[in-house]
Amino acid sequence: MTSKATTAKQQGGSKDSPTKTQQIILTGDRPTGPLHLGHYVGSLRQRVALQKEYKTFVMMADAQALTDNANNPDKIRQNILEVALDYLAVGIDPKHTTIFIQSLVTELAELTMYYLNLVTIARVQRNPTVKDEIKQRGYSGESVPTGFVCYPISQAADITAFKANLVPVGSDQVPMIELAVEIVRTFNRTYNCDVLVEPKAGLSDITRLPGTDGGGKMSKSLGNAISLGDSTDVVQKKIKGMYTDPNHLRVEDPGTVEGNPVFAYLDAFDKDKKELQTLKEHYRRGGLGDTVVKKRLTEVLLAELDPIRARREEFAKDPAQVMRIIEEGTKVARAAAAQTLKEVRQAMRIDYFESR
Ligand code: ATP
Ligand code: MG
Repeated sequence: MTSKATTAKQQGGSKDSPTKTQQIILTGDRPTGPLHLGHYVGSLRQRVALQKEYKTFVMMADAQALTDNANNPDKIRQNILEVALDYLAVGIDPKHTTIFIQSLVTELAELTMYYLNLVTIARVQRNPTVKDEIKQRGYSGESVPTGFVCYPISQAADITAFKANLVPVGSDQVPMIELAVEIVRTFNRTYNCDVLVEPKAGLSDITRLPGTDGGGKMSKSLGNAISLGDSTDVVQKKIKGMYTDPNHLRVEDPGTVEGNPVFAYLDAFDKDKKELQTLKEHYRRGGLGDTVVKKRLTEVLLAELDPIRARREEFAKDPAQVMRIIEEGTKVARAAAAQTLKEVRQAMRIDYFESR
C-alpha cells in the first residue's frame, strides 16, 4: 500500500461498524412535484421515526430531477418549496435533520464524475427501475438523456458522500442501493482504502404503494398520486375516481382485494386491522359496493391528512423562513460532503497540493 493510501485508510475510520449514535441516514426526493402517500409510507414515516436516533440528511435531488426535466428548470425550482413544506408538515424536524439542495453541494457532482469511471455502460443499462422509467417517460430508441441513464451513479455519490449506513426508500430504489454498494467496494479496492461506507436500504412494511389508477407505483410523474397537501375536496374526488376491481360491476358480485388499490391504501393507513379483515371478507364474498369501501378509505385518509395539511398551511405562511432552513442545511451538508471528498481525493492520489 502506498503511503498516501495508508493515510486515507486511517482517515476513513475504523472497519468496525459505527455505534448506533454515529449511524447516518441519507435519503431524498426529486423536486418534481408535491410529495404523496407513496412517499409517506415508503420513506417519510421512517425518516421521522429515526431522525432522533440517526444523524439524518434529507436531500432535495434537483440535479437528479433535471436529468429528465432539463427543459423545465422552473418546475424543479418551484417544487423545492413544495417538497420542503411537505417535509416540515410530516414532522421532519430541522433540529434533528439536515435538509439540503443537491445541486448546491457541488462535491456531489465531482464525486459522480469519479464514479462514472468505475461503472460499465452494460451495468447502468441493466438497472430494472431505470428501464421501467425509460418506458414510462416514453423515451424511444436511444433518445434517453445520458444523465438519466446514469442517475443511479450520481445517487451513489449522494449516499456515499455522507457515509450513510441507512437509506430509507421504497422498493423501486433497491437496485440503486445495490449499485452504491458495488461502487463502494470497487472504489475501496481500486484505491486500496476504506474511505467509503457500504449503505443498506431501509425498507418500510409498505415498499411500493400503487397509484390511484391501479398502476404499479404511485408517482409524481404519472398523475396517479394523492398528494399530502391535497384539499379535502381533491382527496374525495381522487378516491371516487379510483380504479378498483373491473369485474366488480354490481354490488352483489364477488370482488378481488389483491391488486385493488383501495385495499392497498386501507392496508397502509387503516388502524383497525380487525374491521378491515371483515371488510375484505365481505368484499370477496360479494354484497359490498365500492362506494362503501371508498367512503371508509376517505375517512381513514382524511384523518391522516388533515393534521398534515394544517401544519403545511402554517409553514406556508412564512416561505422565507423555510428557505432559510434549507440554506442553513445546505451549508451543513456541504461541509460534510467536502470532508469525504478530501478523503476521496487523497485515496485517488489527486490531492496535489494538500500534502506539500
Ligand atoms: P418521480 O415520478 O419524479 O420519479 P416519485 O413519485 O417516483 O417521483 P421520487 O422522488 O422518485 O418520487 O422518490 C422519492 C422516495 O420515495 C424514494 O425513496 C422512493 O422509493 C419513494 N417512493 C416514491 N413513490 C413511492 C411509492 N409509490 N411507494 C413507496 N415508496 C415510494
Ligand atoms: Mg421516482
